[in-house]
Amino acid sequence: MTKIITVNNTDATPSWQKELANAVKNPLQLLQLLDIAPESADLSDQARKSFPMLVPLPFVRKMKKGDINDPLLQQVLPIENEERIVDGFSLDPLGEHQNGIQGLLHKYKSRVLLILKTGCAINCRYCFRRHFPYQDNNLNKQQFVEVLNYLKLHPEVNEVILSGGDPLMSKDEFLQYIVTELDQLPQLKRLRIHTRLPVVIPQRITDELCQLLKNSRLKVIFVLHINHANEIDDAFSDAVKKLYQAGIQLLNQSVLLKGINDTSEALVALSESLSEVNILPYYLFLLDKVQGAQHFDLATEKAQLLMKQITAELPGYLVPKLSREIAGEKSKTLINSL
Ligand code: SF4
Repeated sequence: MTKIITVNNTDATPSWQKELANAVKNPLQLLQLLDIAPESADLSDQARKSFPMLVPLPFVRKMKKGDINDPLLQQVLPIENEERIVDGFSLDPLGEHQNGIQGLLHKYKSRVLLILKTGCAINCRYCFRRHFPYQDNNLNKQQFVEVLNYLKLHPEVNEVILSGGDPLMSKDEFLQYIVTELDQLPQLKRLRIHTRLPVVIPQRITDELCQLLKNSRLKVIFVLHINHANEIDDAFSDAVKKLYQAGIQLLNQSVLLKGINDTSEALVALSESLSEVNILPYYLFLLDKVQGAQHFDLATEKAQLLMKQITAELPGYLVPKLSREIAGEKSKTLINSL
């Protein structure tokens, strides 16, 4: 007789939220997981206090054991260099902290940015919003109604960018509500989602998420944030394949970071790896001069030289645009090659 086993699964928490809950928050624990002696790093409690450490395990698994200079580890480890105060580096490099409607930034004429969520699944040490007062800018349903009213008064806006924090920190039900409401504004053509979550917790790309985005009448574009080829592994490739199959356009933006991706070899490898998973390189940003991230900064001339080198090696469609954001400017500022 065949025995029938029934499984009564009452745990409805999606696996990506469990990964989030299990993210590593202690640098010593992270180093232990990687078989690295604590003395190898100039860890700083002060840096961690000002901007907590947060690294999900799927991202840790992409790091090389025993290597303190691993380019993924160096993006997340709070170190003493962050405590230095350097001229030209400020708490608010892009002038974003003054705002009108909560959760809404209207910097560029035809696009608005909505801060859906106040946090990310990972805390990147170079983040230009590391001092951003997220608690004053989170968007709830009531404020979203104000945003919708604002958009009705601004028909020049044809694209909404969901950002954060990371907008995919929102649950699928909330995203469904947002997308359904935006779908009904006839002026809108595109919905852009800026996210690093699929890179650090690939399980975030649920079938429900793909379906709700596929159902939207808007053209959906994902702008992922990947800085190094090692961030692209099989789990991530499978996740983005689902997005690609749902008809979502996939772009990537990176930040040029000293010691992480500041060689032509690293940048060429990144573009090639992105291409293999159907993602086009979009922007390569110079670092926003935020206090605490000065040790990642690279001279503009060095960046221009790198661009010259990678342009000689890659087809044009795999060369990202070197750019910087300047507070108050109406668009990103492209940096010419040498
Ligand atoms: S994912 Fe983006 S917004 Fe979040 S900490 Fe990293 S750089 Fe900042």
